[in-house]
Amino acid sequence: MRNRRPLFAGNWKMHKTPEQTRAYVGDFVGPAAELIAQADIALLAPFVDLEALRAALGTSSIGFGAQDCFWEPEGAYTGAVSAAMLKALGCQYCIVGHSERRQYFAETDETVALKVSALLERDITPIVCVGESFEEHQTGQTHERVSAQVNAALGHLSDAERSMLVLAYEPIWAIGTGLCDDPQSANATIEHIRHTAGGLSEARVLYGGSMKSLNAASLCAQPHIDGGLVGSASLQPAEFLQLIGNALQVFDAR
Ligand code: PGA
Repeated sequence: MRNRRPLFAGNWKMHKTPEQTRAYVGDFVGPAAELIAQADIALLAPFVDLEALRAALGTSSIGFGAQDCFWEPEGAYTGAVSAAMLKALGCQYCIVGHSERRQYFAETDETVALKVSALLERDITPIVCVGESFEEHQTGQTHERVSAQVNAALGHLSDAERSMLVLAYEPIWAIGTGLCDDPQSANATIEHIRHTAGGLSEARVLYGGSMKSLNAASLCAQPHIDGGLVGSASLQPAEFLQLIGNALQVFDAR
């Protein structure tokens, strides 16, 4: 019996203007209605698009959110956006610790921990990303690497807080490369993640890294993969809808 509801989150990264956001939602909402009955769907956009996203989604139950935040509620932090501000805009989700934030913007496990707490305090679901480099993958260090990241970022949380989280296992070498992890290997890593930080059996754990409409079903057939954090395949409504539809066909069978 599976009691974790599937989740498909589109990570738009640094793509789309408010106008492009409105056009996307116009094409996405109608066909997504039947998928929403079986899964949670969220669109994670640049800050400047969030208001357009909120307005365009209207009463749809598609969720939305940001790709990063700062942990202080307000203050002299030029360029930063707080979890409190995201809450005021209606965001339900926020990505934390994406490998691109770690690589280009000096995100660390310590700042991830602070952001996760700030988001949970505002009742926004953090989508916490972890994953190993190609070298770590090649040398068999994947499990060790992801459990170190999860323990450092989430070890301070209570059982109740941990159950509210979403995690995304994203092998860095699979992001944006077209190289998807082997489904069984991704499943084993996610199973390993579930046994870290005091237990994450109730948290939803997604796979991310070149998930497409063509491989989503084989990934989501695995018992520990609860959906996807989808980058480039989420940028076109038709491809993202196809991906979710293909994945949902296998959930009931597993
Ligand atoms: P990708 O990105 O689907 O383009 O590989 C996933 C991610 O970085 O979240």
